[in-house]
Amino acid sequence: MPIYSYRCESCGHTLDALQKIADAPLRDCPACGAAALHKQVTAAGFQLKGSGWYATDFKGKGGGAAPKAEPAAATAAAAAPAAAPACGASCACH
Ligand SMILES: [Zn+2]
Repeated sequence: MPIYSYRCESCGHTLDALQKIADAPLRDCPACGAAALHKQVTAAGFQLKGSGWYATDFKGKGGGAAPKAEPAAATAAAAAPAAAPACGASCACH
């Protein structure tokens, strides 16, 4: 049987109540008599919520990495063919 924590919105009184899940939540404050009790969220509930959110976030980040192709080694620059000595009009070898 779970224990529920209640807090009175009217006077701030807090109490823990052992209740069946099917039981109607408490309303009347035993300290001031106002029907202002509200069920409190337990610390355990917060922790569960937090880890679930983190797991979802982690999954989203893991799926997108595509391997990048490494560029092939640059081909060596083609050696410029040695220019044959041209004998032009201004050549003095003739
Ligand atoms: Zn109260």
